[in-house]
Amino acid sequence: MNNLQAIIFDLDDTLYSERDFVLSGFRAVANWGTANLGISQAQGYETLFDLYQQGIRNNTFNQWLQIHQIPAVSSSEETQSEVVAKLLDIYRQHTPQIDPFAESIELLKILTQSYKIGLVSDGYLEVQQRKWAALGLDHFFDAVVFSDSLGRENWKPSTAPFELVLERLNVAPEFSVYIGDNPRKDFFGARQLGMSTIQIKRIDAEYSHIPAPSLDYCADLTFDSLKDVLGAIAILNE
Ligand SMILES: [Mg+2]
Repeated sequence: MNNLQAIIFDLDDTLYSERDFVLSGFRAVANWGTANLGISQAQGYETLFDLYQQGIRNNTFNQWLQIHQIPAVSSSEETQSEVVAKLLDIYRQHTPQIDPFAESIELLKILTQSYKIGLVSDGYLEVQQRKWAALGLDHFFDAVVFSDSLGRENWKPSTAPFELVLERLNVAPEFSVYIGDNPRKDFFGARQLGMSTIQIKRIDAEYSHIPAPSLDYCADLTFDSLKDVLGAIAILNE
């Protein structure tokens, strides 16, 4: 049908496990809590881990301070919000201890022989840049777009970051495919432009099992793992 020229990837939960980033951030927060709040490192980390396992995704650090009964914090709301802001800073500014999925590297080694390779990733710019540096994948990529560099309004599902990566790769949308995990935002903008789309639906990923808001948000093809991507590309190239 079409002959693909560019393969473009999402980052979080597509090329590495976002859970690993979260737990890496929790280790940094637990270390800070040990030095500054007197919370034991092992207990502090375990509490954060338990909150995560329970599905807590928003006021994690508020709950963490309450569980550890930090007296100076629980007595004053203002102090608590200051400490939580500091914990968020620690989390976002830590140097991530994360690795790509083994299959990411295997796949990229093969794809770089035949295709241009791109990245489109959402999230706070400096956080995403730190993840990217930690993963050591940059040498495989011809164009890297962090949508936050275009402004918050241009995060996916905006078409803008896709237009930019295609421009940098000098490839037309119909000759490209975007590979991501999150049906709420990864595929809509790419499809609007005429790109092909592949969803990687890992069994333990955070967003891959949420429903797409409508058919326009669904990927063309869905697979369990990046290991299936070479087969998917063969299908798209038929
Ligand atoms: Mg993702």
